[in-house]
Amino acid sequence: MSAQPTPLAIVGVGKIARDQHIPTIAASDAFTLAATVTRHNTLPDVPNYGSIAELVAGQPKVRAIAICTPPRGRIALIRDAVAHGLDILLEKPPAATVTEAEAIVAAIAGSDSVLHVTWHSREAAAVEPARAWLQDRRIARVTVSWREDVRVWHPGQEWIWEPGIGVFDPGINALSILTRILPHPLSLARATLAFPANKAAPIAADLVLDDGTDAAIAVGFDFDQRGPQTWDIAIQTDDGVLTLTAGGSAMAVDGVTQAVPDEPEYARLYARFAELIATRQSDTDLQPFRLVADAYLLGVRREVAAFDWNG
Ligand code: NAP
Repeated sequence: MSAQPTPLAIVGVGKIARDQHIPTIAASDAFTLAATVTRHNTLPDVPNYGSIAELVAGQPKVRAIAICTPPRGRIALIRDAVAHGLDILLEKPPAATVTEAEAIVAAIAGSDSVLHVTWHSREAAAVEPARAWLQDRRIARVTVSWREDVRVWHPGQEWIWEPGIGVFDPGINALSILTRILPHPLSLARATLAFPANKAAPIAADLVLDDGTDAAIAVGFDFDQRGPQTWDIAIQTDDGVLTLTAGGSAMAVDGVTQAVPDEPEYARLYARFAELIATRQSDTDLQPFRLVADAYLLGVRREVAAFDWNG
């Protein structure tokens, strides 16, 4: 007989909660949506609460939460959740600062809660096959091209332009894939960041990464891409060229399409959360976020034309 689904609450009902979390939970055998904690965007027929404490008082059966708020202010939510022994799925990026992200991980250590620091792009269908294919090959060159239109994917979300975010909101997805599939640890060698004259976060970035070998690793992010949107990674090795396209959901070797599992990212993400809960383990990898912080630290900045949502 299968176990009962875990009653879960979504904290922060916005675009990603509606686009992915709610439909994924509805299709999941492992979780059921029992409540929300959000300030305005409530769901019909789902009880909503003003805080984690009110959630726990009103829905004592809720055992887990999925945090889908923007990154700023998550540490307070985590502390409340840990105080009530809730298991936590955390949308990317984990926090607004590295210190806060590390405090989140520290809050879990020694607690009764499980924490899943998620990187949804790592669950894309071709990521694990790519990792396996690359394992025994020597890498000569890596080229990342992550180019999308912020107006299409984040309509009217002013928080996207807060310091520390900007083009790194999608860019961190590429970094989460790279740090998963490449066989050696990555560090930032140098970066250039393009800041719109009226914004506190970059609209484009170019990064050079170092993996401790002579591989050339170049990463290009653009948040002002009109026309076709591009989420591609090409990796030249001593034994063929691997290409990941469509955000890591498709893979080819020397131009020949490879078979990959047919399971959506967020279904895999929630399946992994269920597995972590069942085994009482946390997954707290912060490496993609550290690379973003390092790009802000070392990045040479230049000013570009002001950004206009209607431009
Ligand atoms: P969003 O549309 O702005 O939604 C976030 C929601 O969080 C808001 O609607 C707000 O709803 C709620 N909220 C804000 N502060 C809160 C608080 N203190 N307590 C409770 N609720 C709060 O943003 P989003 O695009 O969904 O992104 C959220 C997170 O998911 C970000 O970290 C983002 O990087 C990540 N993500 C987004 C996408 C995407 O395609 N948009 C994809 C993957 C991951 P109320 O006004 O009702 O409180």
